[in-house]
Amino acid sequence: MCGIVGYIGPREAYPIVIKGLKRLEYRGYDSAGISLINSSGMNVYKKKGKVTDLEEATLGKDISGHIGIGHTRWATHGEPSDRNAHPHTSNDGSLSMIHNGIIENYASIKQELSNKGYQFSSDTDTEVLLNFIQDIKQNNNCSLEEALRIALKRIVGAYCILLIDKNDNNTIIAARKGSPLVIGIGKGEHFLASDATPFIEYTKEVVYVNDYEIAIVRADELILKNLGNEKQTPFITKLDMELAAVEKGGYKHFMLKEIHEQPSTIFDCLRGRLLTHSGEIRMAGIDNNIDKLANANRIVMVACGTSWHAGLIAEYVFEELCRIPVEVEYASEFRYRNPVINEGDVIIAISQSGETADTLVALESAKAKGAFIFGVVNAVGSSIARISHAGAYTHAGPEIGVASTKAFTGQLAVLNMMALKIAKAKGTITEDRYINLMKELEAVPEKVKEILADTSNIKAIAEKYKDAPDALFLGRGYNFPVALEGALKLKEISYIHAEGYPAAEMKHGPIALVTDKLPVVFVATKDSYYEKIVSNVQEIKARKGMVIAVATVGDTVIPSMADDTMFVPDADELIAPLLSTIPLQLLSYYVGVAKGYNVDMPRNLAKSVTVE
Ligand code: GLU
Repeated sequence: MCGIVGYIGPREAYPIVIKGLKRLEYRGYDSAGISLINSSGMNVYKKKGKVTDLEEATLGKDISGHIGIGHTRWATHGEPSDRNAHPHTSNDGSLSMIHNGIIENYASIKQELSNKGYQFSSDTDTEVLLNFIQDIKQNNNCSLEEALRIALKRIVGAYCILLIDKNDNNTIIAARKGSPLVIGIGKGEHFLASDATPFIEYTKEVVYVNDYEIAIVRADELILKNLGNEKQTPFITKLDMELAAVEKGGYKHFMLKEIHEQPSTIFDCLRGRLLTHSGEIRMAGIDNNIDKLANANRIVMVACGTSWHAGLIAEYVFEELCRIPVEVEYASEFRYRNPVINEGDVIIAISQSGETADTLVALESAKAKGAFIFGVVNAVGSSIARISHAGAYTHAGPEIGVASTKAFTGQLAVLNMMALKIAKAKGTITEDRYINLMKELEAVPEKVKEILADTSNIKAIAEKYKDAPDALFLGRGYNFPVALEGALKLKEISYIHAEGYPAAEMKHGPIALVTDKLPVVFVATKDSYYEKIVSNVQEIKARKGMVIAVATVGDTVIPSMADDTMFVPDADELIAPLLSTIPLQLLSYYVGVAKGYNVDMPRNLAKSVTVE
């Protein structure tokens, strides 16, 4: 949440920061702002709304300067408004700061500062931290860096901050704890950002700043220190990301582009790992830890949102193939409820961004209790990837659309390969089934391509049902979490109230909602639950509900009962969610578009949830 960009070097900072903010806008978009220092001083511009509103607000203004910091906000403290937008300025007018995160003890510090006569022009926790830093600097007559260090030791919460002083036009000071920060290293210039997308056309050399580190960044110098003022050696990593990956490439929205990328992202995820010809699955993170994984007493999947749904599907697959008990936990609940974790437990953390605050903290506490942590993460070099004992990347490339699509199918592909590998090591799968499931997985990219070849039917269905106030999504077995995911997507993108339910469970409540006005989406592909779900469709039709079905190509029974049908190719039931989820992604996309919403920036949401 919240996008942060900074630049220091010989180029003009404004265009770099603004373009960077546009790339990061998926992380927050209720307001945006920029501070620039040039020879005549510091200029701060901020505006409620999108980055383009900020650009408009700076027309005709002095936007020169070789040092700049910019922010796109996802409000936590104080409504979205010009005054709450970042950057904030200290009371003495010397310091400007942007912040991602929450300062939990801001209220007591604010009181302390108010007693000393400080004035606040926003409702944010950020402005409190900034003035706290200014106050320490003045009282101790120390450097900004030292004042920041003292302040950070007093505060509770999460932060990534960039800080500049108008009297020093060659330094950006940055710090992080719990919110991401990457520094791009150029020739005589540095870039700072929440992720690497703002600067991939300038440099591929990056340093991921760690928690409790302070970076002193000058055009030609990068100094990293810990909070104890000890220098740290920056670890330079080479980025494997291309500019095209963060642009829309001719699609109207990132979400549509990312849905259509799935044949290649799933292929990339399987490539070099799933070696069907030799019957081998190569995943170093599993190979190196196979004893721990195969002998796990239980597996706990920890995740949030769409990733949690991937965990639910994996629960079915792991229990079926590996015969290891699996629990699936919301990270935000898991971390606060003193869960029983024993040595021998394996935690599988699933996260697109690898920065999800709740998941991160949940892992830290499970790790401290002796659990083995395995990360299934999309963003390379992210915090979860780094704190895990081992892991497997989903290799879906940058996901910019706020509603997760290709990262979800990447997670399913990784989790399926993991289950197959562990089952093979444990001997809980026959050779035939193992090879057959490998072939099924290998066929997924082509089958997804088939679904995407013609989406006109799904678009027409979306237009037909777009004005429904509610929707119910039902599925059984492996397709039950797909129904949950379908409902979540519709809520996120089209603001239609939607609920996902196990199809049989609907008789215990939701069936009371069924009228001839309620669309009921059945995920009803040919699997071992098929006959049962046919009965569930009948039950809805008997009550005059409108049925939209996801059915297997060639099936005639479900389509004959449903009002509308979206088809997917046949697949083994363990693999089927990778296919049945695709029409539901498209359905919510087209409903959102038909309703005139910005599907890449849905109301109140933001990607990469770095606050609790
Ligand atoms: N807590 C800060 C605010 O509400 C920062 C939020 C963010 O991460 O965008 O302004």
